[in-house]
Formats: sequence, C-alpha cells, structure tokens
Amino acid sequence: MTPGFNIADYRDLEPSTRVLMGPGPSDVPPRVLRAMAAPTLGHLDPEFLELMSETQALLRAVFKTENALTIPVSGTGSAGMEACFANLVEPGDQVAIVVNGVFGTRMVDCAGRLGAEVISIEAEWGRAVSAEAVEKALAGKQPKIFAFVHAETSTGVLQPVADIVALAKATGALVMMDCVTSLAGVDVALDDWGIDASFSGTQKCLSCPPGLAPLSFNEKAVAKLRGRKDKVPSWYLDLTMVGDYWGASRKYHHTAPINMIYALREALRIILEEGLEARFSRHLLNHNALVAGVEAMGLAMQVPSEERLPTLNLVRIPDGADDLATRKALLTQFGIEIGAGLGPLAGKVWRVGLQGHSATERNVMLFLVGLASVLEKQGVKVRPAEAVGAAQAVYRAAR
Ligand SMILES: *Cc1c(COP(=O)(O)O)cnc(C)c1O
Repeated sequence: MTPGFNIADYRDLEPSTRVLMGPGPSDVPPRVLRAMAAPTLGHLDPEFLELMSETQALLRAVFKTENALTIPVSGTGSAGMEACFANLVEPGDQVAIVVNGVFGTRMVDCAGRLGAEVISIEAEWGRAVSAEAVEKALAGKQPKIFAFVHAETSTGVLQPVADIVALAKATGALVMMDCVTSLAGVDVALDDWGIDASFSGTQKCLSCPPGLAPLSFNEKAVAKLRGRKDKVPSWYLDLTMVGDYWGASRKYHHTAPINMIYALREALRIILEEGLEARFSRHLLNHNALVAGVEAMGLAMQVPSEERLPTLNLVRIPDGADDLATRKALLTQFGIEIGAGLGPLAGKVWRVGLQGHSATERNVMLFLVGLASVLEKQGVKVRPAEAVGAAQAVYRAAR
C-alpha cells in the first residue's frame, strides 16, 4: 500500500443536490436515477434484448423517424458526432460544415482528422447562418456531406433548418445534423426534414445522465456506409458492427452500458408520457418567462429574439458584475449551476440552460431572484421586483 494511504479518508459519496441550469447536464428525474439502480442484466440476456428493442422504438418516436438504424452509441454526445463522421467520411471526401460556434468548430476538427476536405461555412458566433451564406459557399460544389448544428449550445442560437437543408440536398450531399441540445426540447423531425444522419446526447434535454449518444441514419446514410472502399477507421464506433448487435443478429461487439440504457429508456418514457408537443411548449414558456424576467431586471439577452434557442439562454453580463464571482455565488448560495461564455463570448455572457427536467417555473423564479440578489451585493443596479413580476405575468397569461 502507498505510504500515507488510508481508505478511511475516502468518505461515502454525498454529492449536493444542484439546480442544473447550465449547458448540460440537466437535472435528472428521480425515476431515471431509480431505473439506473435496477439489477444489471447480461448484455445478451433475452430480457435485456427486449429492453434494447424498446429503447430503439422510443428513440425513433422522439427523433420522429422510421430509420431502422436508430441506436444509442456508447459515449457522450461527442461520440455520436465522431460516429457520424467516422462512418460516413472517406478520405478525400468534401464535407461542408457550418461553423458559428464551438460545436461547428469541433465538427471541422473531427472531419479533418478523418481525412475529409473540409469546406467551412463561417458565420458570426451568436447568429444563425443565413440561407444566402450557405448558397454562396456551396455554389458549384458537390460535397459528399453537409453538416450543421441545430442548437448551438455555445451561442444560444437555434438554426432554421428548411432552407439550408434544401440547398444542401440540391448539391446531392448527405445532410448531417447535431441535435444534442435540441432533441426533446424543441422540435426535431428527422424524416420530415430530410435529415440523413443525426446525433444527440443524453444529458441535455433528454434529462438523463451523460453517457449515451442517440444516433440515427436513414437508408441513404446506410448506403454510403455500406459502399465504403475501406473499413470504418474507428473499431469501437464502426456502425456496421455496432448495428449488428442492435439489429437482428445480436452479435456481440462491445458490452452495452446496461444501466445507462435502463436510464435512457426511462427518460424517453417520461418524455413521451408528457408528449413531445407539450414538452416543446413547456420549454418555450419557461424561456419566455426567463427572458421577460432578465429584461425587466435591467439585463439584456445576447441573441436576437427570432434566433434564440429556448433551451439555452445567453444573458449579457452587465457592467460592474464579476463573471466568476457571480457564477460561484449562484452555486454556493442558491445551488444553481449556470455556464460561462465560450470563445469570443467568454466573459461577456452567462449561459442559462432550460433543458428537460430543469425547465420549470420554480427554477426560472429561483434563478431570477438568485441572480438579482447576487448582483445587488456586487453593487450592480438591478430590479428584482420587476423581474419577478414580468416572469409571473408570462406564466399567468399561459394559464
Ligand atoms: C454538449 C454538446 C455536444 C457534445 O456532447 P458531450 O456530451 O459533451 O460529448 C455536441 N454538440 C452540442 C451542440 C452540444 O451541446
């Protein structure tokens, strides 16, 4: 034993109960935590195989797709991103990627490592990309893949989909969409929108702990995968093999994270019991109340109203406020976690998540009062009573 090591120094695990209002993870409902604590089955146990099929059916309902290849990839949202690119990109393929935040940048890195010839479609951070910009960037080109982020968690922007997808399809490209922060928070409809490949993550609006990446490929994406000249460069994420385990043959590839799949199944049940449209309305209502409260308090939102993402809200840091001290005080005094700004927005904004189980009236009111109280202590002039009144008025109007 290492000298000085004493197992008694390691106390029982007792994490605090937080109010998770950052960019993710979001609050996890007790039902999901209980599902995770159920007895672990074997990964080829007939009972577990049945739960896998059910999880896939529930995932298809949430993605609004009939795609057979709809599975949770083992790993967080980034594993879903990597799985999409690793399976679809062949060296030398042209891949057009919209870049207007951290996750577009990550896609460029990911595709580049796989030997793609990347066409970056750069747009301002904190704004959606316009159809004109996409049209210009794609003019005369025939990329194999067009990839974009539906909900940019780094900037709080919801990307309008229809026009850019139509433009991409006209070039013959497969369309890949990151819906990590939109799935189950705002509308996502893979089949109606003509999305060929998409990935998400469990810890955002699905309100499940981090650890799985729901992914869906349609027939066209599967055809590109089947038609590869070489093997998929990632053994672990090779969907020809992972798909065999999730498909009819049930062939062992890697051990499924059993209890995480219990958790996802329960999270999906909760989502579909609430109903997708009701869930989107709830997110929008809480977003509207938050915005009304923030603005009435005397602060400003970063993103123009027509491009705002309801599930992730960028609040401008007011003059005189200390970014780090404010976030720390919210956490220690109110138990509220919010996120810092990223990239060019670092130090300029706070990122306030309203994702899944965290998107509630209780949390919005607590955040508004907590933030006002922390800012007042720093000598920043805010109007807490007006903030509360404005948010309450939004809820009252909706009743
Ligand atoms: C969180 C996030 C990811 C990455 O997911 P991880 O679970 O952190 O790996 C990718 N894209 C977007 C838009 C995200 O918000």
